[in-house]
Amino acid sequence: MQNKGVSVLTQTEAGLYCPGGDFHIDPMRPVPRALITHGHADHARAGHDTVLATEETLQIMATRYGEDFCATRQTVIYNDPLRIGDVGVSFHPAGHVLGSAQIRLEKSGQRIVISGDYKRSADPTCLPFEVVPCDIFITEATFALPVFRHPPVHDEIRKLLSSMQLFPDKTHMLGAYTLGKAQRLVALIREAGFDDIIYLHGACEALFALYQSFGFDFGQLSPVADHDPKSLTGKLVLCPPGALNDIWSRKFGDTIKACASGWMRVRARARQNGAELPLIVSDHADWTDLCRTIRDTGASEIWVTHGQEDALVHWCRGEGLDAKPLRLIGYGDEEPAA
Ligand SMILES: [Zn+2]
Ligand SMILES: [Zn+2]
Repeated sequence: MQNKGVSVLTQTEAGLYCPGGDFHIDPMRPVPRALITHGHADHARAGHDTVLATEETLQIMATRYGEDFCATRQTVIYNDPLRIGDVGVSFHPAGHVLGSAQIRLEKSGQRIVISGDYKRSADPTCLPFEVVPCDIFITEATFALPVFRHPPVHDEIRKLLSSMQLFPDKTHMLGAYTLGKAQRLVALIREAGFDDIIYLHGACEALFALYQSFGFDFGQLSPVADHDPKSLTGKLVLCPPGALNDIWSRKFGDTIKACASGWMRVRARARQNGAELPLIVSDHADWTDLCRTIRDTGASEIWVTHGQEDALVHWCRGEGLDAKPLRLIGYGDEEPAA
């Protein structure tokens, strides 16, 4: 039974390869034809000849790598089946970031779903995860240990807003990954009723502008660069997690540093990031949702990619499922920000 899907999908130096359609999925190296699940740098790289992805993902890649990130772009629409070679292909929402997709392949009655990165919890900035029934489900394992259970995201947002109320004489700096996490946080902060201006580090500006071009309204935003940092007392400043520790952050007066990541569950990681106010907010599924999703797909065989592969493979086998780690090298480079 093991490896029954390898006629549809194999593992090569560049990553997952589908011989029937002659394409790679999220390849690590330049290839003739790439299907891309989403715009994070460890999945979406520049230099392929043809890239097939959702319009949002293509535009995210153009924003990050420049308009010439590939020779030819092909846009796919969610749930719109197409045929490449002798393989049926369709893209389905993954609930991870704007434009993120699971890719479903079908050949000779064999259905494989490559989920990319995904989550099941609330995110106003992308379509919710869709369960796609399949025979083989390929899942990430970023937070695949029982210790990782993400709390309700609204509780974490409330922690931030309470701290701002409690310390009105400090600037709150919120470190968040610039693609997906930052936009989700601002949307949730607005939902929670915070309507003051939110100040953006330069590294966040282009992606916010891109989301706005897709119709998202983030309320009033302003580049930090337009202001004297010392004048932002009592304000909320959004920046990449790394900026919390660099000299940029010293330009402000009295600050409280918050960091939003699934890793904030781990105290040592919070300290490492310089986060006085750790917020456990992740764009990846936690242990509970990984297990739930595997069951939901109805798949009898599970291939596990980047993260804590062994724990999840062990759980799957306990459930009576065939499971194996893929040990794909190169994914998860962004995971400190997960
Ligand atoms: Zn990702
Ligand atoms: Zn990833």
